[in-house]
Amino acid sequence: MKYKWVFAVAVCLIPGIGIAQSLTKTEQQIIKNIEAEMPNTIQLIKESVNINSGTFNTEGVKKVGNLYAKELEALGFTIEWVGLPDSSKRAGHLVAYRKGNKGKKLFLIGHLDTVFEPDMPPNPFTILNDTNATGQGVNDMKGGDVMVIAALKAMHKEGLLDNTTITVYFTGDEENAGRPREISRGDFMERARQHDIALAFEGAEGLHTVATARRGASEWTLHAEAKQAHSSGVFGKGGYGAVYEAARIINAFR
Ligand SMILES: [Zn+2]
Repeated sequence: MKYKWVFAVAVCLIPGIGIAQSLTKTEQQIIKNIEAEMPNTIQLIKESVNINSGTFNTEGVKKVGNLYAKELEALGFTIEWVGLPDSSKRAGHLVAYRKGNKGKKLFLIGHLDTVFEPDMPPNPFTILNDTNATGQGVNDMKGGDVMVIAALKAMHKEGLLDNTTITVYFTGDEENAGRPREISRGDFMERARQHDIALAFEGAEGLHTVATARRGASEWTLHAEAKQAHSSGVFGKGGYGAVYEAARIINAFR
């Protein structure tokens, strides 16, 4: 977790403003708010990292959710817990939203669970130096979750959240999604479609970088057929053949 990300994210949330550009008075004030809140922000990361929330530790996941919910509620967000069937053995998801008519509709994504289940060796939150800290899930992704809260808090103080539509969606099973996916992700997809911009706060490369595209995961089978012919004719009458066609399709996917 790099604390300076908090600053970067607050700036990124304001449309049309890059770090390199000069900042308006309001933006400078947001940064001041971020800095003033830093001790509380670090305390919140610490508290949440020290709660084990491995995907299958449903109690722990809910506990982290409640901790963040309290913060978001104080900023005027309506809190909802999206439950999943017991058979899924997953905790469910924290949703916090506010609705208004100003600006783009934002969908802010995080997750409450980590890959560290309670039977793994503990690794409590520890500050290493002025910019780095360690602990279970500090980077993936309680740091990102807390960034969302810190940025919203700094903007709320300036009245900038008034009349906006923002949904914070922290899933409880990002590391190992419940099945069927239509159930574990159905509500997430439906709500996401009602927004203009989605921002995920899991760490990207570098301190001042926002990734605008990334790899997903999917499973599929590709069948390619072609005319059977001697290989000497591959660039002539025989045509490209199934292997080249398959390569063309895969490359298009890439
Ligand atoms: Zn993650």
